[in-house]
Amino acid sequence: MSAAVKYNGTLRGWAVDPAAGREGAAEAVVADGVLTALTWLSGSDAEGLGPDGVLILPGLMDLHAHFREPGNEDAETVATGLAAAAHGGFTTVALMPNTTPAIDEPSVVSRIRAAAAASGSPVRTLIHGAVTVGRKGETLAALGELADAGVTGFSDDGSPVKSASIMRNALMYAGSLGLPIIDHPEDHTLTEGAEASEGYVATVLGLKGWPIAAEVGSVARSIALLADVVRDVPGARLHLTHVSTAAALDQVLLARAAGLPVTCDVTPHHLAFTDEWIAGARRFAWEASGDPWADGALVAGPFDTSLRVNPPLRSPEDALACWAALADGTATAIATDHAPHTEVDKHVEFGWAINGISGIETALSLVLAGVAAGQLPLATAVAALTTGPATVLGDRSPVQPGLRVGEPADLVVVDAGASWTVTAAALRSKGKNSPLLGRDVPGVVRLTLAAGRVAYEA
Ligand SMILES: [Zn+2]
Repeated sequence: MSAAVKYNGTLRGWAVDPAAGREGAAEAVVADGVLTALTWLSGSDAEGLGPDGVLILPGLMDLHAHFREPGNEDAETVATGLAAAAHGGFTTVALMPNTTPAIDEPSVVSRIRAAAAASGSPVRTLIHGAVTVGRKGETLAALGELADAGVTGFSDDGSPVKSASIMRNALMYAGSLGLPIIDHPEDHTLTEGAEASEGYVATVLGLKGWPIAAEVGSVARSIALLADVVRDVPGARLHLTHVSTAAALDQVLLARAAGLPVTCDVTPHHLAFTDEWIAGARRFAWEASGDPWADGALVAGPFDTSLRVNPPLRSPEDALACWAALADGTATAIATDHAPHTEVDKHVEFGWAINGISGIETALSLVLAGVAAGQLPLATAVAALTTGPATVLGDRSPVQPGLRVGEPADLVVVDAGASWTVTAAALRSKGKNSPLLGRDVPGVVRLTLAAGRVAYEA
């Protein structure tokens, strides 16, 4: 595929630029791919341009996606994943290392880079390396070689780093390389066979519970190790991904208040959905009560396997805590945990279904739905999808999201006032495992420009 074309055009809308701390009606001129002018409009020039209409945002950055290549190209390839990312407004995507083979040595990094280049997509591909060989949790991977190959962090995602002692060494070694450890917090001794968040909904449905303590305990362990390590290795950094419970977010809040170099992200599905959806409710987290039976909120059949995800969908209180964490800065980023799967892996009994939601194309829509419902100011939400993730990557971030005149345009134009129907055909991802299929959601991406080039255009 040939390289995407450089964009030429004039864009008008409500621009949000967290890097500059500014939002307002604006006109952006892009010439030969370069943002040559950004004019803030007022008075009659700004008429009809508002935060509930066409938005001009810096290109979104995702810290956590699974593109399944190498090893499971039936579920997603780098090319289809990048097309999905562009359709979702993302211009930079960091890939998780739980491929087959795992990204635990430089040759796998090269292979993914080659696939990204061959796709012709201008969307940037970042790659996180594995913490341990084969993600087995037994032997530290060659972190130095992976760092030389350009990885942006280390993670055994899909699993926590099994041993505390290896986690401690990993924090030290990665810290000396200037890279974060990206931790999937879960105590497996508490979650074996778990199907849904432990609580009322799981009990009524007869599903085995995933206790909140499994997340809280794992987060506490990692933070305690970080506190130890950072005394000797000041560059050590811990990023906790897909934190899903109020109690674990409290741990992060305390650690950050104590000055520890810890950050975390939350996912669009933990922000917008709750475990009520497994019972058959379809109201968003901010409309939910936790008891869909009492409320007559059941509008769909139970046990839709697209809702099986790890960590599991939580209670409305936990979902609202995720929004609050973004609002008060406890959570730095929204990361999609885009996890495409084949029909074969999902068309089974709920407890047998593989974990994951194909979510990179609906992330912005779910966040905008929450913003429209008053869960978060628009500018804070945009920061969590742009400058926030860049902060987590620190010096290794290849891009500082922002609307900067004189630089290649890296932006997304999304109509917040329009809606689209999520269908299998509408999703560019091979993964059609979305609980939103058939549903109208707000926020239609009209144009995605990555490094001045057209990544997606409606
Ligand atoms: Zn994970």
